[in-house]
Order: sequence, then C-alpha cells, then structure tokens
Amino acid sequence: MNWNALADNVLAGQQVSRAEALAMLGAPDDDLLALLDAAFRIRRNHFGRKVNLHVIRNAQSGNCSEDCSFCSQSARSQAEIERYAMESADALIVGAQEAAEVGAVKYCMVTSGRRPSEQVLTAVCAAAGRISGDMKIKLCVSLGSLTDEQARRLKAAGVTRYNHNLETSRRFFPQICSTHTWDERVATVRRARAAGLEACCGGIIGMGETLEDRVDLALALRDLEVEAIPVNLFNPRAGTPLAGRPVLGAIEALKVLAMFRLVNPRAELRAAGGREAILGLMQPLALYAVNSIFTQGYLTTAGQGTNRDLEMLTQAGFEMGQVEG
Ligand code: SF4
Repeated sequence: MNWNALADNVLAGQQVSRAEALAMLGAPDDDLLALLDAAFRIRRNHFGRKVNLHVIRNAQSGNCSEDCSFCSQSARSQAEIERYAMESADALIVGAQEAAEVGAVKYCMVTSGRRPSEQVLTAVCAAAGRISGDMKIKLCVSLGSLTDEQARRLKAAGVTRYNHNLETSRRFFPQICSTHTWDERVATVRRARAAGLEACCGGIIGMGETLEDRVDLALALRDLEVEAIPVNLFNPRAGTPLAGRPVLGAIEALKVLAMFRLVNPRAELRAAGGREAILGLMQPLALYAVNSIFTQGYLTTAGQGTNRDLEMLTQAGFEMGQVEG
C-alpha cells in the first residue's frame, strides 16, 4: 500500500477505513519509516514539531476493588508497589508546582479505585481550585467512573480534562477485567464530555489482543471524538495475572502509534506508559507519530527522567509545547 497516498487522503479530510488501519499494522517491518513518515505529515500539519509534556500524580495508590489483570494496583495483585490513601490537597498542589517547573502543560491527578469517594473528590476539587487559579498548567484528573454531578463538580473546580481509558476493544475487554464493563467506561467518557470536560481516553497495547482489537480501539476512540489518546505499551508487572505476557517489539509498537495517528489525526496522541521499556533506543521515532509524552514516570513505575526526555526531543528536532489559553 502507498502510505503517503493514505496520508494525503487523511490530510484531505477522509477517514482511514478499518481495512486500511489493519493493513498498517500488518505492513512489513521494512515499511516502518514510510508509515512514520505518513504519520509525521499529519502530526506536523496539526501540531508542528511540538511535544506536550504531561506529569501524572498517583494521588491514591493500590487496594482497588477491580480486577483489571494488567494492573498492579488491584487488591488482587501481588505486585510490590507502594499502597497509600488519598493525598492531601496541599500535597497535590506541591506536585503541580513541580510539574509546572519542568515545563509540563498538564498535571494529571489519578486515584486507584472504581469510583471516587467523597473524600477523594473533595481533595481533588480543593487542589484543582487553587492550581487553576494560581498556576500556568492545565488540569486533568482520572478518578474512575463518575456520576453527572461529580463530573460537573470537577469542571466547576477548574479541571479541563478527564481521563478514563477504554483499555482495549469491546470484544477483548472481558478477558482483562470482570468487575466492570467496557460499556460502563464509555458511559463515563460521555458523562465527562457532557459536563464540558475534554476526554483523555486511550488504552494498552500488548496484553494479548489481536491486531483487529488494536484497530477497533482506535476506531472506537474516533467515534467518541476524544481530544487526547494515551497509548500505553504494555510493560508486564510481576505479581499481576499478565506478568508472563511476551512484550511487544519496538517496531510493532511504532506501527501501532502510526496507525493511531492516521485514524485520529487531530487527537493529542501520547506515547504513555511503557515508552522507555518497550521502545528503548527507538523512542525518538515515536515523536513522528505522537505529540505528547509523560515525563517524570508513571503511576507505579519510574521513567527515564525529564532531563533525558528533553534531550531526546530536542536532539530529534522537536520542541516543548506550551500551555495554551
Ligand atoms: S480500576 Fe484502575 S486502579 Fe483499579 S484495577 Fe482497574 S486499572 Fe487498576
């Protein structure tokens, strides 16, 4: 297939078909640079060479009632992680200051658990009110399932975006989680958007799903018109049910990122968790498809550090994004 012609079609406003998206994932490895070039033409058209840095804060860790088999924070996981109750609003504000100091455009407060308790919501809203009033950084939160009223409270407190990942395709989801459904996750994304919050919604690649599942996740996110898509590259955690999964190859992961860019041309596409572990020395190539990365690590694992992230993106000819608005 002519990947450049496919990029031309996307730039002209056409949508990539399911068959075309699948063809991208099945392309020979020798096509990798052509796939990334196609992705880059779209990325450059909408976002130039800017890379938005996001900082994620694990505000409440572990002891989650849900059984997501990839997750070290499930109460059923034996993973050796730090488990702690909800942080105070003051601690969350200190985290935001640190994020702003490294030049992050977004600070994302995340809590484990199926849905936020009143204590969690109160602390997050208190922190959000002060951060949005005092600092030049945008706020995203990820607290699990929401009611309409909770979504409205977050919006009123100054939160701009809500994260709730679909994780994988609707078809594969029951194989990784039995305590809630994919449709419940979609409902929360819709609720957040109805309250005026942008949607950050992505998934995890490499949990044993098929190429069709990867494409169907990308297409579902296009249907939901989400503003941001974090693509996590599965980095199996000891002590979880998926600990023994074979890991993705870097080339395979880069094809996935290119496919997500062509299917969702205007979304803020993020190389999320697993970037360092899965892409290794190939990390800079991801920037040709994505326009966002997490820096300063992830929920329960460390990253390579902001200095190395900045060195990587500037050496590759990219520049840091700035807070808009
Ligand atoms: S709901 Fe979230 S914190 Fe809980 S097990 Fe699933 S992914 Fe982990």
